[in-house]
Amino acid sequence: MKSQLLTTQWQRLPKDVILRLQADKLHRYLRDVVVPFSAHYRDLFHKHGLKADSIRFLEDLEQIPFTSKADLVNSPEHPQRARDFVLIPDQQILARRPSTILRALARGRDQVRRELEIEYRPIFMTSTTGRSADPIPFLYTNHDIDRLSVAGQRVMEICNAKRDYRLLNMFPYAPHLAFWITHYASTEFGVFTVGTGGGKVMGTDGNLRMIQKIKPDVLIGMPTFLYHVLQCAVEEGIRCETLKRLVLGGEKAAEGMRRKLRNLAAKLGSFNVDVVATYGFTEAKMAWAECPFAVDDAPSGYHLYPDLGIFEIIDPKTGIVVPEGESGELVFTPLDARGTVVLRYRTGDIIEGGLVYSPCPHCGRTVPRLLGKISRNSEIKSMQIDKLKGTLVDFNQLEHVLDDAPNVGAWQLEIRKCNDDPLELDELVLHVQKLSDVPEERLSRELNNRFLERTEIRPNRIVYHDADEMRHLLGVGTQLKELKVIDRRPKKTSESAPAESNNHAPNLGATDPMSALSATASSHPTNVQVKS
Ligand SMILES: [Zn+2]
Repeated sequence: MKSQLLTTQWQRLPKDVILRLQADKLHRYLRDVVVPFSAHYRDLFHKHGLKADSIRFLEDLEQIPFTSKADLVNSPEHPQRARDFVLIPDQQILARRPSTILRALARGRDQVRRELEIEYRPIFMTSTTGRSADPIPFLYTNHDIDRLSVAGQRVMEICNAKRDYRLLNMFPYAPHLAFWITHYASTEFGVFTVGTGGGKVMGTDGNLRMIQKIKPDVLIGMPTFLYHVLQCAVEEGIRCETLKRLVLGGEKAAEGMRRKLRNLAAKLGSFNVDVVATYGFTEAKMAWAECPFAVDDAPSGYHLYPDLGIFEIIDPKTGIVVPEGESGELVFTPLDARGTVVLRYRTGDIIEGGLVYSPCPHCGRTVPRLLGKISRNSEIKSMQIDKLKGTLVDFNQLEHVLDDAPNVGAWQLEIRKCNDDPLELDELVLHVQKLSDVPEERLSRELNNRFLERTEIRPNRIVYHDADEMRHLLGVGTQLKELKVIDRRPKKTSESAPAESNNHAPNLGATDPMSALSATASSHPTNVQVKS
């Protein structure tokens, strides 16, 4: 069947076929699943005079208004916002459908009821990390767990994993996508995996012992955490000659960081390790990977799954879709999700090389790929550098400058007020761990020059630390994400937009996700009346 071609042949279809099949699938998905069963999109379509039948081609997608994080955040008038995005099937609509009736005749009502439960009943949840707001829950049904497993298995295939490998999943153990997609990926792919839970569960020491015990072929985790663990392994003189691949996720992976990780692996006795990155986000309920590429080649880009979702790249100012290969903001629409569903979700992530359909020069797959560096809009911060006006500083750029700098190990950028005086100017303090015996004055000079060459500002001060002090500053093993950029300026209460900052830990114990879950589960129909 045509509709299955997109799934069975997902990695070898030409662009025109992909676009046609995606448009067909999108139309059916909106008509049969999203518009009838999503409170938010039913209202939104109604408000804009849209019908699922008016979305026939991919260009028609542009008629649907964007969804962004702000739409999902609770407010006093809307204390359960995320619930409106959960698909809750209407028993009467389902019972009237000829497909439901035919299935009931063929397999019996109980079986159909069970199948609909598998499709629609939420059974699992991950949530956003909530650095700037409350975490937002994303519910999964059994149907979604299947898709999560398929997406995970594809990550394994694209990263060229082998079934006889041993994997160490070093993502934080939390209700977050990264840990769980890795768990389901290895189960589905059928490869031996141990989850350490990251630094918070076993500590750096526990992770080191596990490396010695398991002798892994692959480490999967956040770049800064892998960096710290590998560095400690080198300091302790541990050997690990089995490593073949480091798979990075959860944060951006700068070229310089990949080089540093490769060098550390070599010091442990593993040479020619491939360092590949993944990209994923809670709202997509999946992640995508690069395929391995030669050290001196450009990264191969994130390989997408055309049957599971559609990416659009838009101009972040106008919202208009840009041509193939042009930079812009990533916007995602799933094609087969249940549970929590967001359409045309604005990620706030900017992809430098855009979306391309040409065959991958490394693995030959013809899948859409996202090329180039990804940076986050939220990492552009306003700083008061002179008395005249605020300056917008792109911390994405500063992070790349530091990750790419030689002789620099771990680092942290701290924004604070001069002399801790709230009325004073802002200052930028760079905390650095020096990697070689290069004198501090020389490294400071080099770093200042690098900053000025690539950005318009430079740090007011550079402070040197040893590895232990840096781990403490970054919160390695105590925070879910290392605090690479920390904003210590007092919060202005008069401003409506909260400043994005890393200086509080994600609130995992928030009651909101669970109340959304229980509310959804209790209102969920378990008895679909099937006419026969
Ligand atoms: Zn490839």
